[in-house]
Amino acid sequence: MHKAGASKDGGVPRRRSRTRLEDQLARYEELAAELSRIGLIARGSLALRSHRCGKTGCCCTGDPARLHGPYWHLTSKVNGKTMNRRLSEEEAGRYKEWIANDRRLRALVDEMHSVAQEVIALTLGEQNDAPKV
Ligand SMILES: [Zn+2]
Repeated sequence: MHKAGASKDGGVPRRRSRTRLEDQLARYEELAAELSRIGLIARGSLALRSHRCGKTGCCCTGDPARLHGPYWHLTSKVNGKTMNRRLSEEEAGRYKEWIANDRRLRALVDEMHSVAQEVIALTLGEQNDAPKV
């Protein structure tokens, strides 16, 4: 890797470019700022499902059958139990956003971990390189 800093050729010090550590610290701050603006989060998955009500004479029991729906269903785990809830179109729209936020949150945390790991490695590395007093 090229080392920024003093140049041998002219004596005029070149403007120091940002170090990898500074870059990574800035990146970490950006990620943390995004994390703070993430909004509501929700776990679960959405699916459109059609169903039979089972009532005799209903179109869903006919031949050919015309099923009810499709309706949005949210499947999520609450205290270890899998829950299923039917949602209106509007509720499903909001859940989509909250679930996407949750995905983004986890991606952000993963990235923060890897940036932090590099910052720590660079920081500890610099300390190890420091002259002993
Ligand atoms: Zn029916």
